[in-house]
Amino acid sequence: MIDAPIIIGGRPVACKSSFDVIDPATGAAFARCPSADEDALNDAVAAARAALPAWAVTPIEQRAAMLEAIADAIDARKDEFAALLSREQGKPRHGGAAGEIGGSIAWTRATAKLRPEIDVLKDDGASRVEVRRKPLGVVASITPWNFPVMIAVWHVMPALLSGNTVVIKPSSNTPLTTLLLVQVANAILPPGVLNSVTGEGGMGRLISAHPGIDKIVFTGSTPTGRSIMENAAANLKRLTLELGGNDAAIVLPDADIDKIASRIFAKSFGNSGQICAALKRLYVHDDVHDALVERLVGMAQAAKVGPGDDPETQFGPLQNRTQLDFVTQLAEDARANGGIFACGGTPMEGGGFFYPLTIVTNVGNGTRVVDEEQFGPILPVIRFTDVEQALAWANDNENGLGGSVWSVDVERATALAMRLESGTAWVNDHSTISPDVPFGGAKQSGLGVEFGTYGLDEYMQLQTVRINRE
Ligand code: NAD
Repeated sequence: MIDAPIIIGGRPVACKSSFDVIDPATGAAFARCPSADEDALNDAVAAARAALPAWAVTPIEQRAAMLEAIADAIDARKDEFAALLSREQGKPRHGGAAGEIGGSIAWTRATAKLRPEIDVLKDDGASRVEVRRKPLGVVASITPWNFPVMIAVWHVMPALLSGNTVVIKPSSNTPLTTLLLVQVANAILPPGVLNSVTGEGGMGRLISAHPGIDKIVFTGSTPTGRSIMENAAANLKRLTLELGGNDAAIVLPDADIDKIASRIFAKSFGNSGQICAALKRLYVHDDVHDALVERLVGMAQAAKVGPGDDPETQFGPLQNRTQLDFVTQLAEDARANGGIFACGGTPMEGGGFFYPLTIVTNVGNGTRVVDEEQFGPILPVIRFTDVEQALAWANDNENGLGGSVWSVDVERATALAMRLESGTAWVNDHSTISPDVPFGGAKQSGLGVEFGTYGLDEYMQLQTVRINRE
């Protein structure tokens, strides 16, 4: 049995009930997770609030040193983390799972090096005007199931570095690695600085409305983001919302297909398509459409989809039954609307939530597989002849997380990329992120940004200090 308690005030807390955690490779339960109730949430918020005054004035160098120590502690148990992550999320243990744990360690260390700035706007004989940054208070983090450890790190580490205390609630699809992370971090942090609770949407709504919480950082779907915003209104909680994406890529007629095909493949199907900023709509000029599709299909057919504990596996299952059913529905809808499946297109036989890498052509805007975020291994490829039309199609979506343009003419591609209605525009690349570069969504893909000092600002209250010297 996996020992993954919730932690409140530095101590494991027993819960009255528990729920199953499902292995996506089999569809069967492999562990039980403690289920927190409203009393536990109240206790967690009270513990975070009690720990806040001392943590907020702890020198940042000390807080940063604790983040480094947490990175060391994760590193010391990285194989255990990767195995558990693979089991609950489905991603290949020695591929995506090990990569996510390695990335989480690196991201923790990079975050520890950030420092909030003090802006001096004026400094003369008459006056001095400074803009300072102070912690916001108690931050609640609500995370999804696609990168449970990495996204927890993205939320928790900048919040702690900037002097806030935290209560985190993972997705009930993938709660165990987050509970382990909080347990490991609590061997280093003062009690109450980082607390965990569990539960589903009901717990999420309680968190959103809780008067003792000052800010919510949320990564998940757009409808849930809207619900959080509504529930958070009573005490004007600060919000960072990293929501859904349906990223378009535009491949221009001069693109070097031999060079870019494998990159486009990786950016579309990584984590079996379950990445917020995956390349989800591929608009390809008629001149290179067939050649690019042929190469992508070759790679998709050669790829090994299988259980995360098989060392040969490159792509794991979908994380849950709901997502498998959703992707299946999108494929059926595409088929009914004239879509041609160049490969894949029906769920794989046997247990588990497996779906093959799928490429569908002869579809366009107005078809569900193009208009809706698939969040799975199914890529629609849309043929175009007019670049302005392709840009209009790319922008004709409520999401605006990322987008990309591919061409050997970098100047032309950049000019076009800057006309995408998206939080990030890539040229000859897609979905690459780094800890010092801001990342966030335009339109319905979110509010605010994460990473770097831009991201740190979201955990801090600006205070203008005006000193009159006369
Ligand atoms: P989800 O919105 O269903 O759930 C996310 C979290 O919210 C879970 O912890 C869930 O328990 C909780 N929750 C559910 N209802 C709630 C409510 N009413 N109030 C508060 N919390 C509630 O999302 P998911 O299915 O876990 O994740 C997939 C989605 O996340 C996709 O749309 C994907 O694009 C998005 N995502 C975005 C980013 C980004 O950075 N923009 C990154 C990863 C995933």
